[in-house]
Amino acid sequence: MRTTTGWQSLDPDSNALTRVTIERRDLRPDDIAVRIDYCGVCHSDLHRIHGLLGERDLVPGHEATGVVVATGAEVTGFAVGERVAIGTIIDSCGECAMCLAGQENYCYDHPTTTYGGTDRIDATPTVGAYSREYVLREKFAFHLPDSLAPAAAAPLMCAGVSVWEPLRAAGVGPGSRVAVAGLGGLGHLAVKLAAALGAEVTVLSRSTAKERDALRLGASGLVVTTDEAQVGAARGRFDLILDTISADHEFTPLISMLGLDGTLCVVGNPLLAGPKLRELGTGRKKLTSSGTGGLRQTAEMLEFCAAHDITADVETLPSSEVETALNRLADGDVRYRFVLDLSDLDT
Ligand code: NAP
Ligand code: ZN
Repeated sequence: MRTTTGWQSLDPDSNALTRVTIERRDLRPDDIAVRIDYCGVCHSDLHRIHGLLGERDLVPGHEATGVVVATGAEVTGFAVGERVAIGTIIDSCGECAMCLAGQENYCYDHPTTTYGGTDRIDATPTVGAYSREYVLREKFAFHLPDSLAPAAAAPLMCAGVSVWEPLRAAGVGPGSRVAVAGLGGLGHLAVKLAAALGAEVTVLSRSTAKERDALRLGASGLVVTTDEAQVGAARGRFDLILDTISADHEFTPLISMLGLDGTLCVVGNPLLAGPKLRELGTGRKKLTSSGTGGLRQTAEMLEFCAAHDITADVETLPSSEVETALNRLADGDVRYRFVLDLSDLDT
């Protein structure tokens, strides 16, 4: 066994994580060991620390960048010293229709998640990337393009690809009228990516507080979703609304802003159904969803970001300040992604 250190949630009512020793497996032939330098703090980490999926004692973290420190005997794609990016999925069955289609994120046999999952070989729980070292199959690791700064690139691995895949699935490009609901970690990358794809982008936010940021990120305007007059004036205006809102909310105002054949794509949690969605019946609208990204799309996304110089707007904190990051994320006080610097775990 290899040992490393990380941050574990031992109390689902608290954002205070405990520094713990973590065991990582000895390298299998196709494994690499990665020194994690940076890991983004995703709102999913917060949901799951607080028991969204009924888990306990998690070490969160699933958007990480670092450097290869060791390779298994049969590894061919990575060498020690190379820069790596790790996302939300570290294994899948490799045989089902979804895996064969490059959508390992929808593996029929359930993808192995970076934390809170179960290793497919030895059935041990997976332990996340709020830690100094991670071990995974090389197939599920990505080369981090040279031009991307590692702290700012870390959030691309969950927040980035989770909005990239639905934008691509919807065929977003020049002429598309895209709205992004919720300007947070996912939302701000959705604005950057949709704008870089050539779409006209509008931000849907609870107030005007982020209006200047929205324009700077590439949006052409912001609609305040709590202002009925503004929502009414935007009726039918969008082809696609990418809903990244992290809390329970009404869908009706959003759906009313969709045009004919418009699509509401919900990527935020919790996913809600029922009467709140009745506006979908008016106008042949579509409700869709998406859950992170497959290998091919993740690699494509990284290339696109390298070509367009896209990374996240980040606030980097030493990992010992993870509680502050989680508290401020819960309060909506982040522009637009906290990234933990794990190097303090060496001391
Ligand atoms: P975040 O940085 O906290 O951003 C969430 C945004 O939602 C906030 O910036 C805020 O935008 C808006 N919001 C928060 N509370 C709200 C409320 N009560 N009513 C209306 N709007 C509210 O979170 P994130 O990391 O981007 O994650 C967003 C959601 O996506 C989370 O639920 C997360 O679990 C989920 N997620 C899904 C996937 C996937 O693959 N489907 C992947 C990663 C994360 P404004 O200030 O602009 O109003
Ligand atoms: Zn995430």
